[in-house]
Amino acid sequence: MIGVYVHIPYCLRKCRYCDFVSVPIDETAGRYRSAVLREIELCAQKYPGERVKSVFFGGGTPTALPADDLCAILDAIKTAFPVEPDAEISIECNPKTIGYEGLSRLVSTGFNRLSIGLQATQNDLLNRIGRVHTFEEFLSTYRAAKDAGFQNINIDLMHGLPGQTQADYLDAIRTVAALEPAHISAYSLILEEGTPLYDDVLAGRETLPEEDAVADMEDAGMDLLEELGYHRYEVSNFAKPGFECRHNLIYWHNEPYLGLGAAAHSSMIEDGLWVRFSNESSIPAYLKKLEKGKLPRAERIITNTFEQMFESVMLGLRLTEGIGRKAFFDRFGSDVIETYREAYDKNDKYGFWDHADPAYLRLTRSGMDHLDSVLRDFRERRLIDFLR
Ligand code: SF4
Repeated sequence: MIGVYVHIPYCLRKCRYCDFVSVPIDETAGRYRSAVLREIELCAQKYPGERVKSVFFGGGTPTALPADDLCAILDAIKTAFPVEPDAEISIECNPKTIGYEGLSRLVSTGFNRLSIGLQATQNDLLNRIGRVHTFEEFLSTYRAAKDAGFQNINIDLMHGLPGQTQADYLDAIRTVAALEPAHISAYSLILEEGTPLYDDVLAGRETLPEEDAVADMEDAGMDLLEELGYHRYEVSNFAKPGFECRHNLIYWHNEPYLGLGAAAHSSMIEDGLWVRFSNESSIPAYLKKLEKGKLPRAERIITNTFEQMFESVMLGLRLTEGIGRKAFFDRFGSDVIETYREAYDKNDKYGFWDHADPAYLRLTRSGMDHLDSVLRDFRERRLIDFLR
């Protein structure tokens, strides 16, 4: 079974920190809908009968497109592939881009999870990072989503924003949790080169909180989310029990998924081989290929067992549950700890492993704080073994 991801690369306008593949919505949007519908047909011919357990519309801002377009795309996926009756069908939205009517239309077509990008509850912070909406506009979208019938709602928050204090961040968490969404994502701002915010910080026109202050914010935020009933199940994701995002779990479990739309990535099994491929990232190039009746592939790589094992580790260690040793053994025929013995032992000395359940290779909270260095050890040690 696979997950299907649909990338909608349009937003009302670019946020100041954003380097995702998205552009302000323009006249190409109508052609884009037709191109995605064509891509679905071509993929149905290539992967006939592939069962789908989750669908995720991400962006960009999917709700920058009319609800009718989004529903047409979902209907086409359901026609092309057997979608499980209890599939999780998520869509990302931003406040100000959709109202009660559009949200109701999404619910009646089968969308059952909504992810709302809020980021902060203070309007001055939202303004500084170039969000198009206010907190009050978010509230009205949230209420409309509830009224329309969405029970499973995620709200995105960020920390490390310019001018943000720990008190601001904790206040945002409390305000959002009081609305009782099923899920909260809490990301750290990453200053990406080439964004207007990056240029402003470099030129001294904008200041970010110090690294230590951001780490403290993150820690305090995690404690508060747990206290408010949201358990951390992935580095940046918190959910009420049973509301973990099933689509994202496909990625973290390194299972197959099919990406549709410009810049979408896929990981599929073709003729017994694990293949990763990506679509053209520019909208014109994506449209051009599909309008000629071709799949819009930009790159295709067959991954070997060594790479798949490392990917499973890299993704699985993001989960607080860790990596199921039996699942790893069943897939690769070797035990994850024995496979990476040197890296395991080195990080054990730092106290980075949680030994509570021997069935899992699982990081402690402090281990998760050092995830990048743990993974460097795994990559290096395994590479050395592989070359021996
Ligand atoms: S809404 Fe999201 S995808 Fe769109 S510009 Fe802002 S951060 Fe980027």
